[in-house]
Amino acid sequence: MSDVIVSVKEAYFSYPSRKDVPSFGLEMPNFTIQSGEQLMLMGPSGSGKSTLLNIVAGELVPQRGEVLVLGERIDQLSESERQAFRIANVGFVFQDFPLVPYLDSIQNVLFPYRINPHLKLTATVYDRARLLLDNVGLSTKSGRYPSELSQGERQRVAIARALIANPRLILADEPTAGLDIKRSHEIVALLQEIAINQGIGLLVVSHEPQIVDRFQDVLRLDEQLGERA
Ligand code: ADP
Ligand code: MG
Repeated sequence: MSDVIVSVKEAYFSYPSRKDVPSFGLEMPNFTIQSGEQLMLMGPSGSGKSTLLNIVAGELVPQRGEVLVLGERIDQLSESERQAFRIANVGFVFQDFPLVPYLDSIQNVLFPYRINPHLKLTATVYDRARLLLDNVGLSTKSGRYPSELSQGERQRVAIARALIANPRLILADEPTAGLDIKRSHEIVALLQEIAINQGIGLLVVSHEPQIVDRFQDVLRLDEQLGERA
């Protein structure tokens, strides 16, 4: 049996319209991600990349079509079911979800366990946080605060944080934002290595063409896909 992690079909989403601004509607391209498969979603700013990622994460629900994640039609779940599903299965490297400034690296990695009552912080989880910091090359920096880390190091802490709850799927929104070309490649290579080693599906969203060659599968969102109504 093929192991489909994500399948999006005929999906359409639009934000609620307000009278002062035209609403954004996105006719989503059909795509699937298999276990261990890596897909990059490219497109200019404003083309709907973050919107699409939030739909796959179950943060937003499309008005039409199907969003299947790990065999579950997440577009048919209630909000609380979607949240529980997301916590159990999805690791998110957010574009605008920075590290918590007053927590050191290891506590930032453990942060999902501090805010989600579904997740129980045990000694095993603590060990896993150390292992993940080691995996992203930060074993000596677990006691550093975000302000004491470089941008690339902060992104690596964010990757470790996304992996702490053993996700089957990683969604990364502009994970190379603010990094130079060399560091961008390092971060993407790291995400890819972890995804392959752990059989995790990976969806990376970026507008940066310099990392596109790292991906066999690339999906492009064009400006015209996002139509204004
Ligand atoms: P990208 O990530 O490709 O830059 P986004 O998915 O963030 O694009 O945004 C796509 C479009 O949707 C933009 O025109 C943006 O203004 C609009 N948009 C994003 N979030 C909202 C929202 N919460 N309400 C209304 N419109 C939104
Ligand atoms: Mg975005």
